[in-house]
Amino acid sequence: MHYSGMTFRPPYEANSLLLQVTKGCSHNKCAFCSMYRNVHFEVSPLHEIEADVAEAASVRPGATRVFLENGDAFCLPAERLLEIARIIRTGLPRVREITGYARVQNVATKTDEELRALAQAGFTEWNIGLESGLDDVLSFMNKGYDAVTARTQLLRLREAGLRFSVNIINAAAGPARMEEHAAANARIVNEVKPYLIFVSPLHVDPGTPLEGMLERGEFVESTMGQYIEEEIAFLEVLDLDDCVFYGAHISNPVSVLGRLPQDKQALLDELVEGKAEYTQEMLDAHPRKGAEGMIIGW
Ligand code: SF4
Repeated sequence: MHYSGMTFRPPYEANSLLLQVTKGCSHNKCAFCSMYRNVHFEVSPLHEIEADVAEAASVRPGATRVFLENGDAFCLPAERLLEIARIIRTGLPRVREITGYARVQNVATKTDEELRALAQAGFTEWNIGLESGLDDVLSFMNKGYDAVTARTQLLRLREAGLRFSVNIINAAAGPARMEEHAAANARIVNEVKPYLIFVSPLHVDPGTPLEGMLERGEFVESTMGQYIEEEIAFLEVLDLDDCVFYGAHISNPVSVLGRLPQDKQALLDELVEGKAEYTQEMLDAHPRKGAEGMIIGW
């Protein structure tokens, strides 16, 4: 398989076939992100994709779900994505779901008609790095869109029949604005109605612009206790009919996973009880990072 450099996928895509269609991220400018910082963005040639599908068919012919790599596979033009879907379905006829990472701007570059055609071609859902519902946070994180744009584009996805999950960065506004950030995040998520919310603490990764902001005192990192408190505040004001709440990444200080609305109180209880199990010294601690900057402990 043609994997270039580090290859990422959400934890809940562990059983999906990973098929690279781009190298790196077409944006690659988010202040907190080190995932593809040293990877030059390139579009994978179709012959590489065809070879990878043929290889996958020889070892995993029963694959039913494909996750397109890398940072924002949805940046590809609709015509290219439709051709990739045709290659996948020809080589792996049991595939029913095609998914991948997407940015808000990737939606904006497609017409409603193209979005509907992609839904019909088997692109069932996309993972969107929404991150925050506050304009100034989106701006200093260099996401390249504001909250109104994100809301508009995510509602277009829904309208076209494309499901999506959203990533929310806990405490991205810092500890002084936990309540405000939690409320703004819940407001936009309640409006756009994702099928899954992936919530995890902010990573201040080595070598990122955010690390420089932290060192210059322009950003204050939250403690473990504050991360948990903001997650509770966010969850409390979520009002969704059918949505997975995924707070079970290795970086989450209290691991919680359930479905809203029925599990809401149980998830809140787990967060409160999980927080109570830590000592005050641990609650006051900042994340410890591994070599790649990933949170490895507290
Ligand atoms: S967070 Fe996503 S969109 Fe931003 S640079 Fe990283 S991979 Fe690209």
